[in-house]
Amino acid sequence: MLWAARLNESEARQIDLFGLLDRFRSGVFDEPSIAVRRVLQSGEPYERELKFADRDQTLELRIALATDRNGNGSNGNGEVRYCDCDELIIGGERTPMPHFHNCEYVRQRNSLIKEAERIATGQCGNADPYGWTKVFVAAMDKLAEPLLNNGAKG
Ligand SMILES: [Zn+2]
Repeated sequence: MLWAARLNESEARQIDLFGLLDRFRSGVFDEPSIAVRRVLQSGEPYERELKFADRDQTLELRIALATDRNGNGSNGNGEVRYCDCDELIIGGERTPMPHFHNCEYVRQRNSLIKEAERIATGQCGNADPYGWTKVFVAAMDKLAEPLLNNGAKG
C-alpha cells in the first residue's frame, strides 16, 4: 500500500487519509473523497481496480469502515449470525454480522447522518467535496460521541 502510493515512511506518518487517497487519483478514481463519503454513508466497502498505465500496474483498492476489518460473520463459536441492518446488504446480498456489529448503534448512528450532512453543507456548500467530507466526518464523530459514551449496548 505505501509502496503503491509512493510514500516513504516519514511521509506516511504525516499524511492524512485524504492526502493518501489523493495519491491514488487516476482516471478511474478521480474523486477519492466521494468514495470515502459513500463508504461512510452506506457502510459498504468501496472496491475498485485502479489501472496505472504509465507504471503498467493494477492495484486493488478497498476502502471500508474499520469495524469491517474484524468482521468474519463469526461470533467466535463458528456460528454465523445475520441481522436486519441495511448496511450489511452488500451487492444485493445479506452478509453475516461482523464480530463487533451493534445493530442499535448502527441505527442510532444512521439517524445522525442527515444532521451531519446539514452541518457539512452549511459550512462548505457542495463545491468543495474534500472540505465537505472532512466536516461531515468530524460532525459524525461529534454527534456519535454520546452513543459511545453511553456504552452502546447490543
Ligand atoms: Zn445489525
